[in-house]
Amino acid sequence: MTATGAIWRNWGRSEKVRPARVERPRDVEAVQRSVSAAAARGLHVKAVGAGHSFSGIAIAPGVQLDLHELSGVIAADEESGLVTLGAGTNLYRLPELLAPYGLALQNMGDVDRQTLAGATSTGTHGTGGRFGGLATQIVALTLVTGDGSLLTVSGTENAELLPAARVGLGALGVLVDVTIRCVPAFLLHALERAERWDEVLDSYLERSEREDHFEFYWFPHTETAVTKTNTRLPIDAERRPRPRLASWVGDELVANGLYRAACALGAVMPLVIPPVNRVAARLMGNGDFVDHSAKVFVSDRGVRFREMEYALPREAVPEALREVRALIRSHGWRISFPIEVRSAAADENWMSTAYGRSTGYIAVHRYFREDPSEYFGAVEAIMRAHDGRPHWGKMHTRTADDLRPAYPRFDEFIAARQRLDPAGVFENRYLRKVLGPVTATVPDRGGS
Ligand SMILES: Cc1cc2nc3c(=O)[nH]c(=O)nc-3n(C[C@H](O)[C@H](O)[C@H](O)COP(=O)(O)OP(=O)(O)OC[C@H]3O[C@@H](n4cnc5c(N)ncnc54)[C@H](O)[C@@H]3O)c2cc1C
Repeated sequence: MTATGAIWRNWGRSEKVRPARVERPRDVEAVQRSVSAAAARGLHVKAVGAGHSFSGIAIAPGVQLDLHELSGVIAADEESGLVTLGAGTNLYRLPELLAPYGLALQNMGDVDRQTLAGATSTGTHGTGGRFGGLATQIVALTLVTGDGSLLTVSGTENAELLPAARVGLGALGVLVDVTIRCVPAFLLHALERAERWDEVLDSYLERSEREDHFEFYWFPHTETAVTKTNTRLPIDAERRPRPRLASWVGDELVANGLYRAACALGAVMPLVIPPVNRVAARLMGNGDFVDHSAKVFVSDRGVRFREMEYALPREAVPEALREVRALIRSHGWRISFPIEVRSAAADENWMSTAYGRSTGYIAVHRYFREDPSEYFGAVEAIMRAHDGRPHWGKMHTRTADDLRPAYPRFDEFIAARQRLDPAGVFENRYLRKVLGPVTATVPDRGGS
């Protein structure tokens, strides 16, 4: 939590800001008062979640709203699986909150520190060619719009705004609650294997379709990809949690200890990176266990990094990844972090990276103390050539002019923003860059 006057930093240490004011509204009316008061004083307002976006999307130079007081279950119905939660609820609380109803999230990304509002607003996704991101599970939400009024968006009220507001980029208002369609709690059988990278690439499209949740990590400078295949099982199937030692080797020794040392050392001695990557790939590709879905979907991320992730038409992924490999070779870069490849089903949310097409994701990372710009910039050029769309919460250099053609409903989203925030109360520098300015912006609004 940031105090007024203190500097706020995001998790990846790629962004920081000293908000003019920090407010922690305790209820919905207090959010409305905050927005109205800020609007009247000519200040920008931005709700911030867990600061897990690498991009400047959550930067709030004016009033920063911390919504952690708006968290927990508001209503739940076991039968339909519909659960309404405070928008500031952190994902890691969901297993405990949903357990009494025997429910779970249908799919999850690889960490659970984010808030529901923050995660859905940037189009956060996990993997699974037949499953969409978190936003696809949202059936209703309530937000405070630019004039401080409360707006319900659901299948029956303001339904036309639902595909805009689910991935709203924080541009349409402050979410105060969201209603999610949950599924009966389930177990996952996880299989982690070290495989030849070219064989994994050749089988990626077919496995993304066939398996419930398939992803892989290719370790640069090696011929190895670690595949993770998770299969959904009923909740009463036999649990076989990952043995403690294996968990420690995977999560602590490799993902955190070995990697922390390798990243720190690799920054000054890049030659250590290829051998370390070979060892890491061997140690990580060795899991076979069954556990509750959230425990399998989520891992610890103890080593701080920066990330860029692009969504491509899924069939473009193998070729794009081959090009990235050739790029790394030709530049002689030493890249310590594996490249992560996932997939998602096509969806209908206007600003979703998976809008209208079966999607494959390629994510590149760099240790947070290394300058990622040259590597990310060159990879971004490859992704753009394959009609890629950048994750809104991760690093990229795209602008409204070149994003518009990538999103068929871009102008409808802009019209929704114009309707809900005509004075640009929720604008920040990032939104001006990726969406353009709100046209009727009050000229003298403070902060940038
Ligand atoms: C270690 C790590 C792992 C990650 N793994 C994944 C992954 O597996 N899959 C994936 O897709 N992404 C992943 N991400 C990215 C992350 O999920 C997104 O950036 C997400 O938006 C972060 O959520 P947050 O709560 O931290 O929101 P923030 O980053 O704080 O905010 C994100 C946006 O949401 C807005 N917002 C927050 N609260 C509200 C509100 N109440 N109303 C309106 N707008 C609001 C903010 O204004 C901002 O625009 C990862 C990030 C990290 C650091």
